[in-house]
Amino acid sequence: MGVPSGGPGVEPDTTAHVITHRDAPGRPAGDAEPRDYRAAFAAARLPMALLGPGGEVLAANRALGVLLRTSPDRMAAAGAAALLGLAGDPHAGAAFHEVLSGRRSRLRCTRRVTRTDGSGVRAEITLARTGAEPLLLTVEDVGERDALREELRHLRMHDAVTRLPNRALFLERLTGAVERAGVRGTGRIGLCYLDLDGFKAVNDTLGHRVGDELLAAVAHRLQDCARPGGHLAARLGGDEFALLLRDSTGTGQATALAEAVLGALREPFDVGGQRLAVSASIGVVEREAAGSTATQLMQAADTTLYWAKTDGKARWTLFDPERNEHRMTRQALARTLRQAVDRGEFVLDYQPLVALDTGRLRGVEALVRWEHPQFGRLAPDRFIGLAEEDGSIVPLGRWVLAESCRQARAWQQAHPDRPLVVSVNVAVRQVWDSDLVADVAAILRETGLPSRLLQLELTESAVMGSAGRPLQALHALHEMGVRIAIDDFGTGYSNLAYMSRLPVSALKLDGSFVQGFQSAEHPNPADETIVEALVELAHRLGLTVTAECVESAEQAERLRRIGCDTGQGWHWSRPVAAAAISDLLSA
Ligand code: C2E
Ligand code: MG
Ligand code: MG
Repeated sequence: MGVPSGGPGVEPDTTAHVITHRDAPGRPAGDAEPRDYRAAFAAARLPMALLGPGGEVLAANRALGVLLRTSPDRMAAAGAAALLGLAGDPHAGAAFHEVLSGRRSRLRCTRRVTRTDGSGVRAEITLARTGAEPLLLTVEDVGERDALREELRHLRMHDAVTRLPNRALFLERLTGAVERAGVRGTGRIGLCYLDLDGFKAVNDTLGHRVGDELLAAVAHRLQDCARPGGHLAARLGGDEFALLLRDSTGTGQATALAEAVLGALREPFDVGGQRLAVSASIGVVEREAAGSTATQLMQAADTTLYWAKTDGKARWTLFDPERNEHRMTRQALARTLRQAVDRGEFVLDYQPLVALDTGRLRGVEALVRWEHPQFGRLAPDRFIGLAEEDGSIVPLGRWVLAESCRQARAWQQAHPDRPLVVSVNVAVRQVWDSDLVADVAAILRETGLPSRLLQLELTESAVMGSAGRPLQALHALHEMGVRIAIDDFGTGYSNLAYMSRLPVSALKLDGSFVQGFQSAEHPNPADETIVEALVELAHRLGLTVTAECVESAEQAERLRRIGCDTGQGWHWSRPVAAAAISDLLSA
């Protein structure tokens, strides 16, 4: 940049002359003397200059001289644009001239200005037209401010405990990497999303200070794994970390990094005078960046991490689109579940319960199915859990109860000589979140079904430890004459003695017992002995026993010999539509 030399010296004193002459901008009301302005201009800490119509410096103050490492008089008559290097900047240069010519009222820009000694300074330049000439130019050194801003940004983008980039910075880098991936490099991106197993226990038992120390030590080892490959390690919060592979060469590279991390964490940590062993679960996502967003990648990584946890922790798991598809339909199902009840998308199948000694039809279990408009007929295992989670089990369960009682009453009226018990599954939440007793009473009243022809199936876990409301409900139902059966008996904390104190009428022995019977050539005596003992005990406690999942004549025969009362299973019939049961009754 050329620095003007020579020319008439423009001292602050002469400047004042110019100002008074030209009716200076920003002149306050009052009687301040021009001399005062002159002195203020000269002494102001903000570097300033007054420019003439061609952009030439009419006057400059000392602060500007100090900033640009020159003296005010050496700047006089110099072109301000040249002085500040604006001429070489088409954008700022054009704007500068627009202000001069009056087509624009002000200019503000931040740029690097080269001083007379060749050093540079970041400066915010403003040029304002506030009236007639001269124009006011200010040049503020913002280097320090920017450095401070940068420092603040660093603090904001890094985690104080581990000094790693935090979630905000990680997401920024990930977004940048996704955007740039198409432009150059491999076009692929890898993510390892990591969560320490059992970290909460460390925090809870040894305190947060030890917890923090452990996190810092873990971060250190992560850095050691990430650095050689130029990958980014970040702490996303709590005990969650992530590694970003910007130019991933393929799935193998990402899983190798995950493996290396697991290896690095295997060595115990010495923190807070303790030797701590930790492990981590890692969700790995590696794919072509095109077509994905940072958010989608994070979601996929989060899902995969969850799989790694449920697969047994201390491992990495790779994202699997098919497994994810399943999860998607879970979501899709959950979304449509509530309206499905109102839209009447559910149907009931009935499966016979047969007396083992006589082979006569004793009852039917009502089993719900969802005729999903999009996914077709769905088995209850696909949606009962979801319905329990979101509470839609309450209206759904009420519908099942009403529909099966209505059907049972129709059978009773058509075949008064063949009483058939309808057995209805009840979810725990129905007992807790709805007035089951009132619902049952109302439904029995409305349908006219005698209460002795209704059986409710509850699981062991639903009645175990029941006190208060569930227990009261069980008693009230029992008093009404409704039978209570324990479903899938033997899979939970079987406690027959406890069960006997509840108003329970029947046990439904879980299918796994019967499956354990094997064939006649390879009997499993242990299972038979257990079932025999269970049946005997149940009978002594006044309970009847139904065996589930009876698939062969052989199993049916052995259950009969052992003393089981009823059986249910494919040996007699699969769950079928109500009409098929009507046919059975008419036969
Ligand atoms: P669950 O109450 O134990 O029902 C018996 C399950 O065993 C039924 O499966 C039935 O189709 C199946 N099964 C019957 N015989 C055999 C056999 O010989 N071999 C084998 N391998 N399986 C047999 P489904 O219909 O898929 O029902 C599954 C579970 O869904 C039920 O288990 C029950 O816990 C639940 N569920 C069904 N309907 C309802 C309902 O309306 N409300 C609630 N809360 N749960 C229901
Ligand atoms: Mg059942
Ligand atoms: Mg069952």
